[in-house]
Amino acid sequence: MKMPEKLNFANLPTKIEKLERLSDKLNKNIYLKRDDQTGSEISGNKIRKLEYAIKEALDNGCDYLITCGGLGSNHARATTAIAAKLGIGSYLVLRGEEDAELEGNLFLDKILGAKIKWISKEEYAKNRTEIMEAIREELYKKGHNGYIIPEGASNGIGSFGYINAMKEIEVQEKEMGVYFDSIIVPVGSGGSYAGLFYRNHMEDRKSKIYGVNVSSDAEHFKEAIMGLLEQIDNYTGEKIGIEKDQINIIDGYVGKGYALSTKEEIDFISNLARTEGLVLDPVYTGKAMYGMVEEIKKGNFSNSEDILFIHTGGIFGWNRFARELL
Ligand SMILES: *Cc1c(COP(=O)(O)O)cnc(C)c1O
Repeated sequence: MKMPEKLNFANLPTKIEKLERLSDKLNKNIYLKRDDQTGSEISGNKIRKLEYAIKEALDNGCDYLITCGGLGSNHARATTAIAAKLGIGSYLVLRGEEDAELEGNLFLDKILGAKIKWISKEEYAKNRTEIMEAIREELYKKGHNGYIIPEGASNGIGSFGYINAMKEIEVQEKEMGVYFDSIIVPVGSGGSYAGLFYRNHMEDRKSKIYGVNVSSDAEHFKEAIMGLLEQIDNYTGEKIGIEKDQINIIDGYVGKGYALSTKEEIDFISNLARTEGLVLDPVYTGKAMYGMVEEIKKGNFSNSEDILFIHTGGIFGWNRFARELL
């Protein structure tokens, strides 16, 4: 498969480890791919996507990265960290209020030197692209060449980060002597899922790729992922040619909504922390693994022995609301 070039910032390959107590409890082999350990300031899944997206940006002469996200966005923080490493600027369009508590990712954005524009939830949903384009214009007048990275770096080029991750998994399977029947990833903007799915499908692998959505619903993400697969085709020059219903999204675990936690979710995360020495985040991995465990308990993974969960990171996402439920 033809792969675009990328930068090299992440600590790769990330290791795969087995969750011993959880595996015993569920009578499956549950493995974790530690994409939370791609780095520290740059940690999590976004850096894999940004390595491709920012390579494209630099090739276009960019000296300012412009992107967007929620106020605690892992993607925004990773983008700003890379911009600082490269000695270029970063401009973030964040959904929320200027007086938001200075903690977690927002704190890191600030200390890493991001310029921030705050917009409301409504503006974010409707106009974020136009707002980023206006910022690019403004920067252009000051002699800068801005490059817009969409939410989560989930576009065609960004998704190559997870095509590459799938290649990495294939090598690790051989080393470990395991073949993962199911690979599960949280879905927030769909780029990670799209990359894993694309490679898995094109290589005729037998694994099933499952996404657990942490906002919106399955229908929304199936549409979005179909669009991403098509964008990937534009780079590879191939044609994936699948139907929407081949995309497996496990819906029903959004809970109270994006970045909002329930007591059940927090209890699940806390229990896992105490039995495995592993701290998931409340926004993505906590919800998604909770969903995976519930589905296994319901018998919905009866054909899977060896299951790989992608730990996409998010440790800086512990907000006051989630902590209070603990
Ligand atoms: C963004 C994010 C996700 C979702 O990945 P997408 O590629 O946007 O679907 C999952 N986990 C964490 C920690 C994230 O920051």
